[in-house]
Amino acid sequence: MFDKVTLKDLDLRGKRVLLRVDFNVPMNEAGNITSDKRIVEELPTIKYLIENGAKTIICSHLGRPDGKPNEKYSLKPIAKYLQNLLKTPVLFSGEIYGKETRKFVRNMLDGDVVMLENLRFDPGEEANDAEFCKNLASLADIYCNDAFGTMHRAHASTVGVAKLLPNCVGFLVEKEIKMFGNLLSNPRRPLVVILGGAKIKDKIGVIENLINIADIILIGGAMAYTFLEAKGFKMGASTVEKDKINLAKLLLDRAEENGTKIMLPVDHMASKEFHVLAEADPIKTEEFLDDDIGMDIGPKTIKQYSSVIAKAKTIFWNGPMGVFEFKNFEKGTKAIAEAVAKSSATSIVGGGDSVSAATKFGVADKITHLSTGGGASLKLLEGHGLVGLDVIKDKVGD
Ligand code: AMP
Repeated sequence: MFDKVTLKDLDLRGKRVLLRVDFNVPMNEAGNITSDKRIVEELPTIKYLIENGAKTIICSHLGRPDGKPNEKYSLKPIAKYLQNLLKTPVLFSGEIYGKETRKFVRNMLDGDVVMLENLRFDPGEEANDAEFCKNLASLADIYCNDAFGTMHRAHASTVGVAKLLPNCVGFLVEKEIKMFGNLLSNPRRPLVVILGGAKIKDKIGVIENLINIADIILIGGAMAYTFLEAKGFKMGASTVEKDKINLAKLLLDRAEENGTKIMLPVDHMASKEFHVLAEADPIKTEEFLDDDIGMDIGPKTIKQYSSVIAKAKTIFWNGPMGVFEFKNFEKGTKAIAEAVAKSSATSIVGGGDSVSAATKFGVADKITHLSTGGGASLKLLEGHGLVGLDVIKDKVGD
């Protein structure tokens, strides 16, 4: 059940709706969008607003302009991109809430769409400044948050403004929350969680919480080396978080007490240098020399992990298995992406790197749900709420 007010609960005709989206899309040096997933996923909400006669005022952040206008982070090209996808005019205001925006808003007809400039061009956004919130809220009659990727941040446009207007969530947020809700409270079992990436530090809370929920946790990436050192192995020159070894021991013990299986790599692609063209040989966990750097999981581990994934009924994956940006070390991540895609389980992939790996290896359309929010999805998996969701009103009478 989803108990927050959504757009479907409100009368939108003729109303000015301030729609907070997360159009913080990756762009290359030439300023071209390299993944439009966050924009495409937003279309159902925007189309619904248009079809129901709302005056939609879209706001978002892009990058980290540090509270100052910066052409590089302008949302102007995104507004144009959205216009092409929607095949409906999207007017762009070159500011947030000043005179130009007010003129645009005054002249809006039912079903019109206006996009504001990058919210983070003003320091008031990230500071959740009261005056900034008041000015932004004064543009609209209703506030709708559909920026799942930003919902764990207490900024003006995610929390402050929501408190000043009748509020609701959009369809993307509803979809994301339902997916993670089912994963955490009602997963089909076995629930297999695959965690990789650079650091344990970023995923301690997730592991702690998932030890109570998952059946099996498969660990890969640099994170695995800290766990392996905790088990007494020497991992050579691999990335090991020395200050987290005791914690890793604690997590392994707790998992054992709980009956949750944590699996660690049994072999690795190890190299003598951290380099894009480095050569690598598969070695066993117990074979590391002082100058060996673990760069990826090895072939035996791929086989083991893939067979666990094949038996899963629910899968969550966050974090690459190796340095997948280097061609020589993408094999582990690619194999895991393919195993997840092949399985008939409900699969959720969260986190920028894993989503881009699934896309890079051509399996994105075989994943049940590719989350648009890395940080926000990790917060949910830690068992925490999202500040941007907590401020949205609950439905009454359900
Ligand atoms: P995260 O943001 O924590 O998911 O980490 C993603 C990063 O982890 C990617 O940039 C990978 O290159 C990196 N990574 C994965 N495996 C390793 C490894 N064995 N050694 C160093 N970095 C790694």
